Amino acid sequence: MEVKLIAHTPDPDRVCAAAAFTSWKKKTTAELFEDLSDKEAMDFLRMVIGLGHVSVTEHATFTFSISGVSRALTHQLVRHRIASYTQQSQRYVKFSPEELRYITPPTIKGNKEAEEEYTSVMAEISNAYQKLLNLGIPPEDARFVLPNAAATNIVVTMNARELTHFFRLRTCERTQWELRELATEMLRQVKRVAPVLFENGGPNCMVGPCPEGKLTCGKIEEVRKKFRELK
Ligand SMILES: Cc1cc2nc3c(=O)[nH]c(=O)nc-3n(C[C@H](O)[C@H](O)[C@H](O)COP(=O)(O)OP(=O)(O)OC[C@H]3O[C@@H](n4cnc5c(N)ncnc54)[C@H](O)[C@@H]3O)c2cc1C
Repeated sequence: MEVKLIAHTPDPDRVCAAAAFTSWKKKTTAELFEDLSDKEAMDFLRMVIGLGHVSVTEHATFTFSISGVSRALTHQLVRHRIASYTQQSQRYVKFSPEELRYITPPTIKGNKEAEEEYTSVMAEISNAYQKLLNLGIPPEDARFVLPNAAATNIVVTMNARELTHFFRLRTCERTQWELRELATEMLRQVKRVAPVLFENGGPNCMVGPCPEGKLTCGKIEEVRKKFRELK
């Protein structure tokens, strides 16, 4: 999996702090953006987020290039609606046998017999896909034989409010391993550029009790430590 934060609102913490101060001050947002001391800006942003007035965090957006993930992952990712997506098309891109890649789950990698079965099915699928293309079937129809495991590229843009929500759900131990890995890496990268906005980033248990009830992972302190120390 490759994940890269390719663009974001410059100085995202300060932009959201200036937006938050706009409702309290006579100065314009531009003046506040220039004039606020770092301490004033960050303290106020922390306070506003703590109060739950999180609409100000919508002023910062983040764009990620994501590649080498499965279609099983992207199907779950795009369920998050307050975001923009563009994904590599299986209609416009015709894959050669070398280009048709697939993701192997660690449980399968760790089991010799399962891995043999998996590799053999993937090879069979690849052969069938190439055969259909050679028979003149258009890629948009040949792709019907491709699996959930098919590797894909996608670009996603989310604002800080939606990202925080996405991290609450998708860095949780209850989330499927591949999407959790992606969400954790996205969080690691945004923490570097917006340390205050994502200070408490991570699953729901970062900011309250675990909402998963009987399905809890039961490792809350371990999980909190992991996300507090994520760099
Ligand atoms: C552990 C786990 C297991 C899951 N299992 C399944 C499953 O088995 N089957 C399945 O279908 N899905 C499953 N999902 C997906 C889940 O149901 C949501 O579709 C997905 O997590 C997107 O979350 P969301 O709707 O809160 O957020 P987003 O789409 O990211 O929206 C953010 C927030 O905006 C608001 N919002 C957005 N759109 C609307 C709207 N139309 N009306 C009102 N408010 C809106 C809501 O407050 C929402 O929480 C699972 C998710 C998780 C984390």
